[in-house]
Amino acid sequence: MPVINRIAEFHPEMTAWRRDFHAHPELGFEEFRTSAIVAEKLRAFGCDEVVTGLARTGVVGVIHGARGPTGRAIGLRADMDALPIQEQTGLPHASTIPGRMHACGHDGHTAMLLGAAKYLCETRAFDGTVYLVFQPAEENLAGGGVMVEEGLFERFPMERIFGLHNWPGMPAGTFLWREGPVMAAVANLEATITGKGAHGALPYQGNDPIVIAAAIVQALQSIVARNLDAADAGVISIGMIQGGDTYNVIPESVRMLGTARWFLPEVGDTLERRFKELVTGIAASFGASATARFDRAYPATVNEAESTRLARRAAETVAGAQRVVHMPKPTMGAEDFAYMLNAKPGAYLMLGGQRSADDASVHHPLYDFNDEILPIGASWWVTLVEQLLPRE
Ligand SMILES: [Zn+2]
Ligand SMILES: [Zn+2]
Repeated sequence: MPVINRIAEFHPEMTAWRRDFHAHPELGFEEFRTSAIVAEKLRAFGCDEVVTGLARTGVVGVIHGARGPTGRAIGLRADMDALPIQEQTGLPHASTIPGRMHACGHDGHTAMLLGAAKYLCETRAFDGTVYLVFQPAEENLAGGGVMVEEGLFERFPMERIFGLHNWPGMPAGTFLWREGPVMAAVANLEATITGKGAHGALPYQGNDPIVIAAAIVQALQSIVARNLDAADAGVISIGMIQGGDTYNVIPESVRMLGTARWFLPEVGDTLERRFKELVTGIAASFGASATARFDRAYPATVNEAESTRLARRAAETVAGAQRVVHMPKPTMGAEDFAYMLNAKPGAYLMLGGQRSADDASVHHPLYDFNDEILPIGASWWVTLVEQLLPRE
């Protein structure tokens, strides 16, 4: 595996950074300790500029190549936030904060990009500028979107931006790429049905919101089955139904929460329209009223063709062509790097981290980031820079 030798030399150091972040996880927009360490290290490595406070806890490191700024620039992005999960690994570097865990490997992403920063500051074997974007709040809170809104690409004009996520379900050191959609768009759904409660023995005196909710849940499954083109992906799932307190009382109202996923904008519009029509229409037909919210969260993550080709070429240089694998289908998961890819051409790759078939996946209390892939990810970052911004 042709990991860059100089990067292999600081593998132990990168591992120590990663485990320190792991022991001190912070939730979205609260990454104060993490971002302070990131900024301090970027300054110590010799970044030309370190900008803090973008999207509250975001950090951008600026590194110019050997000849200084040339007008050309690319961006490399890592995420820094942890999850509200109680870690159960029992590892020596396990989380020291109850109910908080780096269960998505963003500690590893931060350490890999720091490793690349250290190498790039030291060698500067490129012409142009690299922006190292350390973003807060990838999980649910759209920290990447906030960075874009706060002028990331105006303040740091770049040609392309790249992202990398570890993937415990793929063999360690394998890169996974896909052109076009890789992750889905998301909406959070909420419906409240308000009717007339009654004694459970005398239901004709009310208009049972529980029965109405049951009819709605069934009908929502007809949207994907009967309103979408069968060749287009879409999902609606109800994850929570809440109503009533006891055996023999029909409640006044029922509340439901759910999620919708899709790739094409017109599919998102159909899901929204039909969700609202079914919830309010079915409730009305039973003589009850309802509110339906379809709150759009992350857009779809879509890799631009040329950036994908460049990202793949750098991966093949680092890992060898046989370890760079095409991802046949996108996943219905979501990723807030989507906001950056909506604003700028770029690509998002996965890097396998699997040790054995029974490894816990991301977002699991037993998940354990594989430190063996740190130098592979860092080598990919610097290879991208040296290939995209070659010395003249
Ligand atoms: Zn995650
Ligand atoms: Zn993640």
